[in-house]
Amino acid sequence: MTASADLIATADAHCAPTYDPLPVVAATAEGAWVTDVEGRRYLDLLAGYSALNFGHRNRRLLEAARAQLERVTLTSRAFLHDRFAAFCAELAELCGMEMVLPVNTGVEAVESAVKTARKWGYRVKGVPSEMAKIVVASGNFHGRTTTVISFSTDPEARADFGPYTPGFQIVPYGDLTAMREALTENTVAVLLEPIQGESGVIVPPEGYLPGVRELTRERNVLFVADEIQSGLGRTGRTFACEHEGVVPDMYVLGKALGGGIVPVSAVVSSAEVLGVFRPGEHGSTFGGNPLACAVALEVIAMLRTGEFQARAAELGARMHRTLAALPATGTVTAVRGRGLWAGVDVAPRLGTGRQAAERLMGRGVLAKESHGATVRLSPPLVIGETDLDWGLEQLAGVLGV
Ligand SMILES: *Cc1c(COP(=O)(O)O)cnc(C)c1O
Repeated sequence: MTASADLIATADAHCAPTYDPLPVVAATAEGAWVTDVEGRRYLDLLAGYSALNFGHRNRRLLEAARAQLERVTLTSRAFLHDRFAAFCAELAELCGMEMVLPVNTGVEAVESAVKTARKWGYRVKGVPSEMAKIVVASGNFHGRTTTVISFSTDPEARADFGPYTPGFQIVPYGDLTAMREALTENTVAVLLEPIQGESGVIVPPEGYLPGVRELTRERNVLFVADEIQSGLGRTGRTFACEHEGVVPDMYVLGKALGGGIVPVSAVVSSAEVLGVFRPGEHGSTFGGNPLACAVALEVIAMLRTGEFQARAAELGARMHRTLAALPATGTVTAVRGRGLWAGVDVAPRLGTGRQAAERLMGRGVLAKESHGATVRLSPPLVIGETDLDWGLEQLAGVLGV
């Protein structure tokens, strides 16, 4: 057996089969490139679903992590540490907000946002006890906990995990009329991805996000934007909401906030909203730990330069120019996306998205299918132009054009 076949067999035998990974066993990585245990090199056009926006082992981020490893790595929230205040203040400032609730993974931040919205609903809005409702969209992906899958519309994500958490109402994504009708005096929040990532990079119709903003403001409902995948540079702006001039009441952040090194996530909002908590009402042992804060502070500093957003906009325009030619070839039925982010629907006669991803792998490119026909592209924002062009040529090769 080859080294990778052996490692794949052992993983298959001992790891719960919740994933079906492409048969690539990474050994090292740098920038946009991954090298496997046999020394084969792959261009990474997935970038950890946007967790690696700054590339693998980004120098600045590694440096920040190394320096922090030499100082203090964990205090728990029982004590403060000297990176904590800066992390909270600078992340709030990047978001144009006031307060931060630091946690670790994306879904934990979504859970924290749900708890925050409910608490705000009862303590500030005056919703009767146990009556709070949160409106979400069909096709959403907000993570994998019991509560969060309770409002998923993906049967695979839900089946056999009930009983489900009540208090959520699902409306069609992009449908303002349905949203208007769903809001009642007990609605505390609307929770949306400004672009649905896992669903296949679905961009809502123009005017939808501003419409939701207007409705939620009128009805005293919190607009919670899950920017875990869409945020922090991916779309060419710091937040995807910015493309439509929308400022939500709350950002939910994760993935790239940890620089591809450690899990870091957060809820960011106003003092009125996050100030509803009192000590003991929510918490996390690892949330806001020194190593996480040190890495995230460097991520924030990098985003403040605007360099990465500009790069995503520029390379994204380049990528979308190339992809826009594909539908006319009959090999692709649709291309969607914004910035350096795309969902490409492969024509059924060419096989599934999964088969396309496998063929891409054979050509030295890593990408991932999402739901059936879609190949999702979210290259690291640091990818070189020629590498990006080469990766897109491999996609054309897979499609036979
Ligand atoms: C990835 C993702 C999550 C969940 O993040 P985890 O870190 O995997 O828990 C939630 N929302 C969106 C939009 C995501 O893309």
